[in-house]
Amino acid sequence: MGKVLSVVVSVYNEEQALPMFYQAAKPVLDGLSWDYELLFVNDGSRDDSLRILHDLADQDSHVRVVGLSRNFGHEAAMIAGIDYAAGDGIVCMDADLQHPPHCLPTIVEKLDQGCGVITMVRTSNQSAGMVKNITSASFYWLINTLSDVKFEPNASDFFAVSRKAADVLRGNYREKVRFLRGYVQNIGFKRAVICYEAQKRAAGESKYSIRKLFDFSINTILCFSNLPLKLGIYAGGLAALMGLAVMVYTLCTRQGAPSGYATIVILNCFMFAVLFLIVGIIGEYIGILFSEVKDRPIYIVEDTKNIDLSK
Ligand code: UDP
Ligand code: MG
Repeated sequence: MGKVLSVVVSVYNEEQALPMFYQAAKPVLDGLSWDYELLFVNDGSRDDSLRILHDLADQDSHVRVVGLSRNFGHEAAMIAGIDYAAGDGIVCMDADLQHPPHCLPTIVEKLDQGCGVITMVRTSNQSAGMVKNITSASFYWLINTLSDVKFEPNASDFFAVSRKAADVLRGNYREKVRFLRGYVQNIGFKRAVICYEAQKRAAGESKYSIRKLFDFSINTILCFSNLPLKLGIYAGGLAALMGLAVMVYTLCTRQGAPSGYATIVILNCFMFAVLFLIVGIIGEYIGILFSEVKDRPIYIVEDTKNIDLSK
């Protein structure tokens, strides 16, 4: 029996981009040496996306639709797609054509060669401005410095995994606060990197605000590194050394109590700032623990179309 490629596409308010995506992807998929399924995950779109997807599924039996009960976010939608995908290889990509479908044949080639994880690295990002490129570069520098696992800079949410690698993501790695791209790069397996040029968004607007990206970066650092927790120990050591220095200085110069109201106030403010910062960091970790302990579902499926649930 021939192999099947599952193409997982997360969709959130993409009514304009969807028809273009389908038009562009269909001929490429039809030309593949593998059979395929085109699995759209509707992440609680509030526009006409779901109706468009159902229409596509009616016309084309390769199209499958998983509808989530509300907006759970891009990563949750990708996880839902991976869970429902039935293929021997799974590709995750965006609906806005920023991830060019013409890369799919190369991905299939790599899967055929036995690769378990295929990372797509963007060589240039046509749509991101300078600010986004600089913040992205600094983020990768920081996470690679702080964490013992290594991340490919410029790796995108465009990636492919074999069935075996997907099973690892399905069985383990069910964290509620997570960085899917990071896991994919750190589960091992035979790996391949394919470069591609990120295109301009076909239509509509980016769903990631700067704020969302900031929250996302903080969570990732906390998920992959315990180093911030050690800040308390370093700050404690530093404060002790500073105290010792002042004590020695006072004793040696025999001045009695050192004068200097400003010094005391500044030191006090500084130490409290460090203290509260560390309490805040610990709070963030507790927040993550709290959401893991509650163990709420990563996503909730409302309805599916063209999906054989018996498999
Ligand atoms: N997306 C999603 N849920 C969300 C936000 C985005 O499924 O809450 C989808 C969106 O429809 C698109 C992909 O994730 O297919 C990437 O989103 P976007 O293009 O807005 O991000 P950017 O490319 O600007 O980083
Ligand atoms: Mg995009």
